[in-house]
Amino acid sequence: MKTGRFAPSPSGRMHLGNVFAALMSYASVKHDGGRWLLRMEDLDRQRCREEYSEQIIDDLLWLGLRPDEGAGVGGDHGPYWQSQRDAFYDRAFASLKSEGLTYECFCKRADLLAASAPHASDGHTLYALTCFGMDEERKAEMRAKGAPAWRLHLPDENSFFVDGHYGIQRANLADDRGDIIVRRADGNYAYQLAVVVDDALMGVTEVVRAVDLLQASHEQSFLFRALGYTPPSFSHIPLLLAPDGSRLSKRDRSLAMDRIRGLLKPEELIGLIAHLAHLAPTWRPMKIGDFVEAFSWSHVPTEDIVVDAQELGLNRAD
Ligand code: GLU
Repeated sequence: MKTGRFAPSPSGRMHLGNVFAALMSYASVKHDGGRWLLRMEDLDRQRCREEYSEQIIDDLLWLGLRPDEGAGVGGDHGPYWQSQRDAFYDRAFASLKSEGLTYECFCKRADLLAASAPHASDGHTLYALTCFGMDEERKAEMRAKGAPAWRLHLPDENSFFVDGHYGIQRANLADDRGDIIVRRADGNYAYQLAVVVDDALMGVTEVVRAVDLLQASHEQSFLFRALGYTPPSFSHIPLLLAPDGSRLSKRDRSLAMDRIRGLLKPEELIGLIAHLAHLAPTWRPMKIGDFVEAFSWSHVPTEDIVVDAQELGLNRAD
């Protein structure tokens, strides 16, 4: 059976972009009779808060999105908060290390900015391999100054996958993606390691998320295989943009769930997403069951979607 997931970071109230990702991941898997899982990606302990997780669970239930498994409902693959899953990441990290795929990186943020140039149009920067192959003597010297981060070395190999929405994707792992951090200098694991370990151990077969992670799926696929797992299928969705071309974010209060819930009923919000995703010709209230039924990847645009809060009447004062 297909298993999809929604994996938000509880670092603020959900906004329209998160609701879009939640609904699309839900409908894609439910349309085929699959299961939907909710995982809280709260690795960033500074920014993530328990109260935001609770609000996300509440906002999803308000929309009628009840996870089959995960945060708020439990299940056999918990815990469903990444901050509680270090034991699993420790094991995966030890396995990568024992295969000789990782190395210590002593670069500070400023060194990285100076040494690397933005590469792809998504602003991705390639690591300049400064610490790769460093000799033992120098490593010992550097360790005395502070704990290192750990990187995964990506080989000079071509990577291919077929995205369910954006089609065939090709990259050279070394030239286009570069070595990625898997464990930070503060001891916290990085998103790239955690997301792969969790999707694998939670039995996720289908990843639906925003297109800004399309290219990262190359290194994630490599990581799945390096850890002995088969990568899931990936289907990315376009970004929702403000009229000025900026990405909707937790900072845009006008499209945050606390405001939206005061203005719209769940069916109206589902209908709005259906319209934005080209699953409905006009913005009309829609029940979640009808959204799932109407869902088809072939209707969903690949271009980013501009959301004009003013035009939609969502910028009214509270
Ligand atoms: N936690 C990530 C976010 O909120 C999503 C990562 C993913 O879906 O793989 O942007």
